[in-house]
Amino acid sequence: MIESWRDLRQSDIYAARQRIAGRVTRTPLIRAHELSHRLGGEIWFKLETLQATGAFKLRGATNALSCLTEAQRACGVTCVSSGNHGRALAYASQAMGVRAIICLSSLVPAIKVEGIQRFGAEARVHGDSQDTAQLEVDRLVRDEGMVEVNPFDDPYVIAGQGTIGLEILEDMPDADQVIVPLSGGGLISGIALAIKSATATMQVHGVTMADGPAMYESLRAGHPVDVIETPTLADALSGGIGPDNRFSFELTRRYVDDSHLVDEAAIERALSWLYFEERLIAEGGAAVAVAALLEGRVAAAGKTTVVIVSGRNIDMDKLTKIIAAKPHRSYA
Ligand SMILES: *Cc1c(COP(=O)(O)O)cnc(C)c1O
Repeated sequence: MIESWRDLRQSDIYAARQRIAGRVTRTPLIRAHELSHRLGGEIWFKLETLQATGAFKLRGATNALSCLTEAQRACGVTCVSSGNHGRALAYASQAMGVRAIICLSSLVPAIKVEGIQRFGAEARVHGDSQDTAQLEVDRLVRDEGMVEVNPFDDPYVIAGQGTIGLEILEDMPDADQVIVPLSGGGLISGIALAIKSATATMQVHGVTMADGPAMYESLRAGHPVDVIETPTLADALSGGIGPDNRFSFELTRRYVDDSHLVDEAAIERALSWLYFEERLIAEGGAAVAVAALLEGRVAAAGKTTVVIVSGRNIDMDKLTKIIAAKPHRSYA
């Protein structure tokens, strides 16, 4: 058992890599030619969009499920999710023959609810925030003995996401910086732990949306703080970090170099840029790192930068409306 954030080690990330091998895609790094040209640096995309569920969360969910005992698996698993973690837990549960109930807030787009159901899990909508959905998870754990797999504040989930960091160290050991979409901090904690355990020179930056940036505000306050949840294009990044956060807040505080905000219009421009200039489809929560570069929040000139493109599960009607306006042309 890993009881505290201090107990989580690089060796846990290596162990996760062995457990998830063959169940999760080892994603490629591809050069972002247009972004590199525009910003005068070497910019590479880590394409987590290529995971079977369309987002990196499959790594953490698969590792967490692999670590359960037989007795725990028999009870089934549950979680709150803005969509991608629920989808990943559903997919991994189906692959391992485990029952799953995913609890959601009504802010989650319909495409993500359907994605969960397609993988054989129950999607249960409970209230209009992550916090109210959490009450139903608490009840399932208390009354029905199910096991909660938290989307970010779980050491095995964090270790699973950290396998991205190991792959970056192998494929691009001389990178100057890694830019990571940031919400509850599971993704960036794992990546930063992997990277900082190996090298002191590679910087790790987090980026999140300006509307309701829970981890960003918590880092500045020095403790977990609540934010008001509002609808955002980066729906995968909305929600709090939990007042009783045990792992991801301290790990992020300790290992991440800096965090940055981007507004909704910048996320639209980044989605449009990815589509027209790089020929990639990403979701809003995944485009924030690209937005931070295009907006100059994180400098890239003369550096080698790895950008995590964390997922592709966007409502296609929403995406086609955005790209029809070609908002990225303001960078021309
Ligand atoms: C969950 C998610 C994130 C953020 O991950 P955290 O571990 O919550 O910080 C970023 N991008 C996408 C696409 C996600 O689904």
